Amino acid sequence: MADVSRRGLLVGAAAVTGLAAAGIIAGSVITRQAGRDERGNNWDVIVVGAGSAGIGAARRLIDQNPSLRVAIVEARDRIGGRMFTDRTSMGIPVERGCELVHGGPYADTYPWIKEAGFDMRMFSKNYIRLNNAGDSSPSHAWHAPDAPASWAFPAGIPDGLVRFDPAGEGQPLPEVLPREKADAYLARLGIAPDNIPSGLRYLLTDDAEPLYATDATAVGEVLTACIRYSLHPEEAPEPEKLDPDDPKYNDGDYKIIGGYDQLLTFIADDIPVFLDTVVEEVQHSKSGVELVTSQGTMSARRVVMAVPAGVMQRRGIDFTAGLPDRKWVAFDEFQYSHIFKCLLEFEGQVFTPDGSATWGYAESMDLTPTTLWNASIAQPDYGGQVIVGWETGEAARELHALPLEQKYEAVLDVVRKSAGDPGLRYKKALMTDWANEPFSWGAYGHGGNEKDMSAPTDDVLFWAGMRTSTVTASYVSGVDQADELLKHL
Ligand SMILES: Cc1cc2nc3c(=O)[nH]c(=O)nc-3n(C[C@H](O)[C@H](O)[C@H](O)COP(=O)(O)OP(=O)(O)OC[C@H]3O[C@@H](n4cnc5c(N)ncnc54)[C@H](O)[C@@H]3O)c2cc1C
Repeated sequence: MADVSRRGLLVGAAAVTGLAAAGIIAGSVITRQAGRDERGNNWDVIVVGAGSAGIGAARRLIDQNPSLRVAIVEARDRIGGRMFTDRTSMGIPVERGCELVHGGPYADTYPWIKEAGFDMRMFSKNYIRLNNAGDSSPSHAWHAPDAPASWAFPAGIPDGLVRFDPAGEGQPLPEVLPREKADAYLARLGIAPDNIPSGLRYLLTDDAEPLYATDATAVGEVLTACIRYSLHPEEAPEPEKLDPDDPKYNDGDYKIIGGYDQLLTFIADDIPVFLDTVVEEVQHSKSGVELVTSQGTMSARRVVMAVPAGVMQRRGIDFTAGLPDRKWVAFDEFQYSHIFKCLLEFEGQVFTPDGSATWGYAESMDLTPTTLWNASIAQPDYGGQVIVGWETGEAARELHALPLEQKYEAVLDVVRKSAGDPGLRYKKALMTDWANEPFSWGAYGHGGNEKDMSAPTDDVLFWAGMRTSTVTASYVSGVDQADELLKHL
């Protein structure tokens, strides 16, 4: 998940502020359009990789020119790539990879979601708290990220901060030192780590890095709000109510009930997909491309490579005619982030921060993993509960270093503390280590020159996805590359 959306804490002056049907048959081949013996036949376009990018590209090609013979080859025995809805391990379909439609109705994939009529729900009831703030502190109770409790210093506002009250003396906060990090700056102002307001921590550590990796320049506005509203609680703005129908919340997070994979199955529809087909070698020339695969050789006039950057970094595919150095540099400069996602299933509904079954996120700003989310939202007939434990950055790296059972225990510990029940046990636990998954070799990340990575090679090889870190961005890059390819046919 690229961005756990943290909308709502306003900072400013006023408000400080069906696989067979989809043409896919596991075990090898396909489809409505081609039989097994047709695998090697000369295709117009072969797309390598049946993730969001590859399916987006293939769909666009066929929609723009239905006479084109287009096929997808996919190494795994399923489509989806890092979109992996697991329908067998727990009592409801659960997402091992991506889970959320960032932007919901405003996402580029939404027209498909709408056309298919999928049930999509926004995570609109989200909460934070400081676990260690002490039972009587408002910071300890679950509160909305922009509720008055977010501004509170758990142990009271340090005396030294009063002079920075914008409504009082209004002295400006001290200048940030060169390269100073947020934690060091807060310490310099006399704010102890366990006295940092929940909202300040929440806003500054947004799905990226902890305070020690956050630039201190990000602190000022929120800290000023914390000072102001701690001293003048009557001035604190009303918490926002996230409304999926309000375009203001176009960066919200939404879940397709019943499985994200329905989306790609729907888009793929009758496109031929050859599963269990690992592309090992690509031989391209100006006249076309031969793919040496684990199931034999296939040829096409054009190929769209829609594999992750990690596959390229590992030199998992041999490009016998070579690729420009700049392209390899771009792949090698791409950096994967540490992403930790673990699912626990419980016998009953064991945790809710607000008494309802429709909560979205619950983040304990001082626990690891920080974030829990409700993966069984909108499953009224399901008696159990599936909770995701989510972490990013250095904390995620540390979690990944633990043996598997201890990873599960780490998430369980947060659920127990969140639910206030030290005796809780989970029924099932699941996680995928995407950094060590063949055909992925990473969750998602950043870096690598986008232009060099996606530049066509000899007008026959096109490059989609790879560096994109959301489903929508991958899908859009597939569509864009398809349009580019059509100019070169
Ligand atoms: C844990 C996790 C959580 C995430 N959460 C979200 C989220 O909530 N929302 C969101 O929008 N995004 C999220 N993402 C990111 C999102 O999943 C990816 O950005 C997106 O799915 C990538 O699509 P893609 O088509 O570019 O790549 P992939 O989905 O990786 O597809 C590439 C395909 O290429 C195939 N392939 C690789 N090598 C070969 C080969 N040699 N021969 C043939 N086929 C090959 C792979 O098997 C795969 O199917 C998350 C990712 C992870 C890992």
